[in-house]
Amino acid sequence: MYVIGQEEIRAVEKVIKSGQMFRYRGGEGGFTDQFESALAKKIGVARAITTSSGTGALICAMVGLGIGPGDEVIVPAYTFIATPLAPLAVGAVPVIVDIDETGTIDPKAVERAVNRHTRAVIPVHMCGLPCNMEAIMKIAKRYKLLVCEDACQAVGGSYHGRRLTSVGHVGAFSFNQFKIICCGEGGALLTNNERIHQRALIYHDGGCVFRKHASQIKTEFFPGSNFRVSEIQGAIMMEQLKRLDGILARLRARKAIMIETLKEAARFIICPSNDLRGDCGTTLPVLFETADSARAFIESKKNLLGMDCPYDSGRHVYINWGPILKKQYHHPLLNPWRLSGRKFEYSHDMCARTLNILSRTVHIGVPYNYTLKQTRDLAKQLKG
Ligand SMILES: *Cc1c(COP(=O)(O)O)cnc(C)c1O
Repeated sequence: MYVIGQEEIRAVEKVIKSGQMFRYRGGEGGFTDQFESALAKKIGVARAITTSSGTGALICAMVGLGIGPGDEVIVPAYTFIATPLAPLAVGAVPVIVDIDETGTIDPKAVERAVNRHTRAVIPVHMCGLPCNMEAIMKIAKRYKLLVCEDACQAVGGSYHGRRLTSVGHVGAFSFNQFKIICCGEGGALLTNNERIHQRALIYHDGGCVFRKHASQIKTEFFPGSNFRVSEIQGAIMMEQLKRLDGILARLRARKAIMIETLKEAARFIICPSNDLRGDCGTTLPVLFETADSARAFIESKKNLLGMDCPYDSGRHVYINWGPILKKQYHHPLLNPWRLSGRKFEYSHDMCARTLNILSRTVHIGVPYNYTLKQTRDLAKQLKG
């Protein structure tokens, strides 16, 4: 979260005074409907569905794509655990592959992992940094893979001028407390594909068949679940969306100043980017020669601002995903690894390259609240 205030408070007040917190009141045009239209328009896609979380959006995306038992879905070794949880929720197996120096999934590693069971890939625009979508879409086309962009940490970012989630077949945002725009908990699924949209809509709302819009659904209905949001979330997100471009502009201006100063630093290099202009600007990743020098740098500069080594995140690296690595599931007969009838092995060092890169990387948080001058001074102190 970067900014929240009076506008959101007034929006929530409006919802409560209206006495209508449920989004499907029988009619249309409520706060959440308005937000979905505005979001789809901003991102440049045909359809958006607000969901109760980013995880929920990813799960609905898997259902939308028709992913299921026996399928393999390629995910990066560096992401939040929610990414591999999404294929597991629909009975598919996540195949974990290396990232490269950009901090995002390595297209070459994706291609190496493809086999006849591979159905989809989930590139994750981690820390607001865009993946190499050109290479990923090429591979997807060659092997007939579906692409679900996990843009949970990259709302509003773009790749070669196209907003993230509009490049692949479907995409997901998160609006939880720690993301660029937020309402505490929330998410959204975005797509240009009507069938994906309708399948996700059905799954996200188990009562979909009873709604007014049910008559417009041309795909066959199937039992869904509940990843709906309330009007409170919809109303807050409508206000947050109005702030998005301003938040990104501020972050990008500060990150640009830091890059300008730090590109001549002697101790580290700035991590390469797949699209610096599309980058959200939340994080400045820098790469050291060794893990020890990265740690020493954090130790010597940590009083200046928030900084961390992604290797130590404790949750965003595959080695932290205990229940997945052990192939545990809530019911043995639904266990996706077992359902596949094939053997899958996960090990601590299966993505050694990712561990090596992350251990040498330092993530410098871009100081949103600093003036441009303060940002420049800070960058100079980081350089010295
Ligand atoms: C936050 C996040 C998610 C999940 O979002 P929730 O809203 O917490 O469910 C998924 N993927 C990534 C990369 C995330 O950072």
